[in-house]
Amino acid sequence: MRILLVEDDNRVADALMGALRRHGYEVRRAENAADALAAPAADLVLLDLGLPDRDGIEVCRELRARSGVPVIAVTARGDEPDRVRGLRSGADDYVVKPFGAAELLARIEAVLRRSVRQRAHEDRLVAVDGLEVDLGRRTVVVDGRSVTLARKEFEILALLARAGGAAVPRDRIVVEVWQTTYDGMSRTLDVHVATLRGKLGRAGALVQTVRGYGYRLSLGTAAGGPGADGGGAEAGRPAAAGE
Ligand code: CA
Repeated sequence: MRILLVEDDNRVADALMGALRRHGYEVRRAENAADALAAPAADLVLLDLGLPDRDGIEVCRELRARSGVPVIAVTARGDEPDRVRGLRSGADDYVVKPFGAAELLARIEAVLRRSVRQRAHEDRLVAVDGLEVDLGRRTVVVDGRSVTLARKEFEILALLARAGGAAVPRDRIVVEVWQTTYDGMSRTLDVHVATLRGKLGRAGALVQTVRGYGYRLSLGTAAGGPGADGGGAEAGRPAAAGE
């Protein structure tokens, strides 16, 4: 397992690298945000939020938007708003300095276990009402007919499919699909969703707008999808819609 340690403090970095290597991890260190963002892919990132060149929260968002790599935020600030900020930025876990090596190693193991499970889950096929999204092969089938989507269109659909029926906020879709900030991207997102719906034909109605929030993929009658809510009939499933 390769760990990217982003830490500007030499003393802290040396101690951590020693502990991690003794436990069999391959460790690469980045001393600042620029190094971290230029580093090769890792299996997990230990990210100090107090970096000299950029806010660690931004770095966290950027890393996650690019690859979905698990991130454990490390910080000296222990107060509640910063914890919440760290977790909201996309970090999988959060440790506050000073912490013991044993605690950190336990958290790393837990986050890596979760990440492996999640990846196995992501390889799965999401099938709902005649729409099949193969997240591993990046293919889409509607009523047995293969549909060709542009890259961004597929990524939007895959993101919604992975959310398992939960609504995904507009800004998160933009960050993850376009890897940029949300500002000025609102219309671009809507245009892509409109094209996506058009290409999906009958199944396009499964991509639902959640007003003032984002989008979700309706899992209406999905086999084994217990999360389906019986509510709002308006955008339900089109039994044999002839639009
Ligand atoms: Ca620091």
